[in-house]
Amino acid sequence: MSKTFYTTLIFLLLAGRVSFSQVADTYYLLKADQFYDAEKNTFVKNQEILIKNNLVVEVGSQLSPPPNTVVLDFGNATISPGLIDTHSHILLEQKIDESLAVDAMMVSSETRVLRAAKFARSYLEAGFTTIRDLGNSGQYLDLEVRNAINSGYISGPRMLVSGPIIGSMDGQIFGLPMADFDRISKQEYSMVSGVEEAKKAVREHIARGVDVIKILAIGNRLVLGLEEMKAIVDMAHSERVTVTAHCDRDWAAHNAIEAGVDGIEHAYGFKTATLEKMADRGIYVVPTYGSTETIRRYYELQNEPYTEEELQENASHWKKWILELKAAGLSIVAGSDAYFDMEIPRGGIGQTSHLGICGFRTVS
Ligand SMILES: [Zn+2]
Repeated sequence: MSKTFYTTLIFLLLAGRVSFSQVADTYYLLKADQFYDAEKNTFVKNQEILIKNNLVVEVGSQLSPPPNTVVLDFGNATISPGLIDTHSHILLEQKIDESLAVDAMMVSSETRVLRAAKFARSYLEAGFTTIRDLGNSGQYLDLEVRNAINSGYISGPRMLVSGPIIGSMDGQIFGLPMADFDRISKQEYSMVSGVEEAKKAVREHIARGVDVIKILAIGNRLVLGLEEMKAIVDMAHSERVTVTAHCDRDWAAHNAIEAGVDGIEHAYGFKTATLEKMADRGIYVVPTYGSTETIRRYYELQNEPYTEEELQENASHWKKWILELKAAGLSIVAGSDAYFDMEIPRGGIGQTSHLGICGFRTVS
């Protein structure tokens, strides 16, 4: 065949004008005893869900699906919308009695990616259809996992990823040997000093394809300066990418708020005035508090005795903090910050109870 034919064919294919076979749509009808309506926070009986390929097209009772629809009847189960964990770390696993440095120093990138494939599947099987993975993922290993899921190579939830966390010159790993400090910290974080380096780091992240920028308002000890954070936020926003800040100390939050971050992770012990300032600026909070199940699991793994009263007492503090966040008018977003090896599947109870979902239940 002529070169012209091939050229024309390639052009048509690229233009999406021809296809060699028309793929038929696949319809599924989901049935179950009850459905959870997240918008109304209520359970609904006698409902069906019609799905066309991978999109929900209709929800209601006594739907009329097209012929050849695959009916999936889940009996007395409850169907809920896919869960979302907005603060995961699937490239990281820390043993309860080990350092955060172990993964960075002792586990290869290949092993971390393979292990993340297991965690991604585990999240999906627990009902999480989206996770936002916020760093401690080596040099963009989170993007490799996200892309593998998107390509259908492995099963997992939809992933939004940050790439390396951008911080000042220290990162978050304690106790590194001095000779290895730079090498290991640079492997796990984007360490910047000054406005130009901060801007460059954001450009590098976006060029590689991150979905969100995560910064350390405070790392082990050092803070990003106001001008550095402003530069990061402005650069990210100009590329329509949001910025969320790790911050677990009230005094360190003010520059992040001033710089215009979109969200703050943790916010442990923040003063009421700080929370109200965040609410005024429309900054969401991901509290990453635990629950009774998280503490129970921790005690069991440590072989420490405990009483139910102690568990409830611990959890009552988290409940109180959640109510303070709500009273301040903040948008509260569920995120687990699960990275400890709790010997429970990622996304399972005790990992996800880390998740603040329990907090939402106490609020409602
Ligand atoms: Zn985290």
